[in-house]
Amino acid sequence: MSRPPAPRAVAYCNWHRGLSDTARLVRLPADQGSGSGTPGLFACARCREQYDLTPIGDQS
Ligand SMILES: [Zn+2]
Repeated sequence: MSRPPAPRAVAYCNWHRGLSDTARLVRLPADQGSGSGTPGLFACARCREQYDLTPIGDQS
């Protein structure tokens, strides 16, 4: 019996500006522009590592 592949959420990565199935909502650094409550942005695994971003709800 074959199992369907694990569901993947594809989201738009705001850092490299493209779709990625590893994109996660990340917590932005404190000072980003005006700091007027920026809505959540998605970053893929690669960009999170590169820019040292912390995914929301992924505390270990
Ligand atoms: Zn990315």
